[in-house]
Amino acid sequence: MDEFKYIEYEVADHVGTITLARPDKANAQNERLLDELDHRFRTAEYDDDVRVIVLRARGKHFSAGHDLDTSDPEDSVQLQEPDGSWHYHKMYRWEARKYLNYSWNWRNIPKPTIGAIQGKAIAGALNLIWPLDLLVAADDMQISDPVVLMAIGGVEYHGHTWELGARRAKDMLFTQRPMFADEAHRIGLVREVVPRDELWARTQELAAEIAQHNAFGLAQAKRAVNQTLDVQGYFSALQSVFDIHSVGHGNAISVGGYPVLMKLDELKENLKDQ
Ligand code: ZN
Repeated sequence: MDEFKYIEYEVADHVGTITLARPDKANAQNERLLDELDHRFRTAEYDDDVRVIVLRARGKHFSAGHDLDTSDPEDSVQLQEPDGSWHYHKMYRWEARKYLNYSWNWRNIPKPTIGAIQGKAIAGALNLIWPLDLLVAADDMQISDPVVLMAIGGVEYHGHTWELGARRAKDMLFTQRPMFADEAHRIGLVREVVPRDELWARTQELAAEIAQHNAFGLAQAKRAVNQTLDVQGYFSALQSVFDIHSVGHGNAISVGGYPVLMKLDELKENLKDQ
């Protein structure tokens, strides 16, 4: 990939910083953004000079989730046939590759990853947040997964139950209400909450602190924790819940496409000027 349109990347002092740079669309994820993001994660993974990887986002919001506007064939996969019908098998394979597998690979990069999260992080944004190791939140952060509005049970990479606990995960999905920064801190989801204008400085400080340590020691520490989750069934759960998600798409299609898609579109429209 020679040219990057939606992702910025830089390395300084052993920290690789990946930036979602589509602020005019609240960093909504189309196929091109995801491909660029994956490419940059792999660049950081294979660069021996990089010991810690940071993911941050430009603009007011971390990410509005998947870009529902797929009208640009250059940037977006076309999952509908010319007659408007959905190519369900293609959608299943594409989502497995671009959502589940990308996120799973990022989760397993043998280097610490840190997220700097501000503003709204909606639905597909969680596919980017759950794979990260540590999170620093701005005080205006709010995360949500309102895809029950689309007749679907949750996004593709279902870390929810592990990250939030079973009852809190159900509450978020049933009510579509966001979780705010203070609660995320209270339950240990984010390590600290800082004023919005201090988010980047504080994240850099944390990354610099961790980057001083032995790379192999850090990799082993990460693997020890991840491996413990995996023997408890983490990956099996992700895979089987991805299939539940995909049945949701089938349901949405069977009830006439996305009858409630507009609600989510409105939600995203509201993000643009903020
Ligand atoms: Zn999906």
